Amino acid sequence: MQEEFVQFVWHHGLFKNKPLKTIHQGDIMLFDRGLLNIDAGPDFTNARIKMNNQDWAGSIEIHIKSSDWKAHQHLGDRRYDSVILHVVWHHDGYVALRHDGSKIPILELKSLVEESVILNYKALCGDLNMVPCKKFNPTRYDIQLKSALHRAIADRMIQKSARLLSLIEMHSNNWHKVFYIAIARYFGMKVNADAMEDLAFRTPNELLAKNKHSKLRIEALLFGQSGFLDAPAEDEYHAKLKQEYNFLKKKYDLTSMSILSWKFSKMRPANFPTIRISQLAALISKQSHLFSKVIQEKNVSILKGFFAIENTDYWRSHYKFGVLAKRGVQQLGSGTIESLLINVVAPMLFAYGKHRNDENMKERAFDLLELLKPEDNKFTRWYKDIGFPNNTAYDSQAIIGLRENYCEKRLCLHCSIGIKILDKTE
Ligand code: SF4
Repeated sequence: MQEEFVQFVWHHGLFKNKPLKTIHQGDIMLFDRGLLNIDAGPDFTNARIKMNNQDWAGSIEIHIKSSDWKAHQHLGDRRYDSVILHVVWHHDGYVALRHDGSKIPILELKSLVEESVILNYKALCGDLNMVPCKKFNPTRYDIQLKSALHRAIADRMIQKSARLLSLIEMHSNNWHKVFYIAIARYFGMKVNADAMEDLAFRTPNELLAKNKHSKLRIEALLFGQSGFLDAPAEDEYHAKLKQEYNFLKKKYDLTSMSILSWKFSKMRPANFPTIRISQLAALISKQSHLFSKVIQEKNVSILKGFFAIENTDYWRSHYKFGVLAKRGVQQLGSGTIESLLINVVAPMLFAYGKHRNDENMKERAFDLLELLKPEDNKFTRWYKDIGFPNNTAYDSQAIIGLRENYCEKRLCLHCSIGIKILDKTE
């Protein structure tokens, strides 16, 4: 039993329809169960009840067992003098007192709640190897489904933008720089994301902009800073980049990363950090003022076109320095570009809108997601299979957000679908 569930039962009044009595057999009539209090102090405020024909107005405190009053250190806390009823799942003999010595009446809930509500609650918090509420056929509750997904995607956008906004603060509102860092991080996939971000920190976008007239220089800067040019030359191209980097390193007083920062194992060659750095270099060589362009452009095809890049001949035929690819190396595919729009561009639009209090810009982030194909992974398939919509990236991001922030954290009592399942009267 969790206290949160006891609170939920009280909040939604999920008791049997029979007269309520305190543990000392006092009659209770409920007029208002109060407002859930998310700040310090009693759990519900502004409650109104009648006990033994006397009217009471004040707070309600909820616990699993009555001695939790002591365990939660409410003893002597004057904020709890306003409590008119101590609602517990199980009364274990403890009776709380106010400062004036008066006893706080206790209502025990365990015999008042239908077995089915308890069983449904336990089942909801069930198997994470599927949609935990699958057996309740959650998609039949259309309004609650839409509301849960809407909240999940809003939460997800806020979470993603929070990271970007902290970078904005760190980099004195330089959105171009933060966009560059976010793209670099994305190119690192999960495994090399931190290393890519480190590379972007060490290789400022302003430095790259100064040298973007030469593709070779951009590659020399990025590969040099990442540590890949510290090793002996594997071939002619590697040697050429090393020479270029040695010159730039002295000129700009640069410090490179350790090559050991990069991981290659258990990775498809197309995702090797060498390939991803070469793609980042190609994007930087191709584009100027990318953030400004992205902010202004609403046409998805044109947006995608910004990220369509051509790698150099060397990186079309190599996975690493000196290692020839058996087949040609793919350029940035359309799936990767869509994923970049979903995971970098949409959160950037949202963060930018949030920073400037611009609701239209925030809406544009959602509009963009609605124009992109949905992600297809194990989780989106599980939810789609039981009727969750997954027609656009908006849907798939909502499903992923619901899964990560609610289902996996077992927050069914905070999900409109879970609330509906437990409280069929809602
Ligand atoms: S959080 Fe919502 S969608 Fe997820 S298992 Fe619980 S009730 Fe179902």
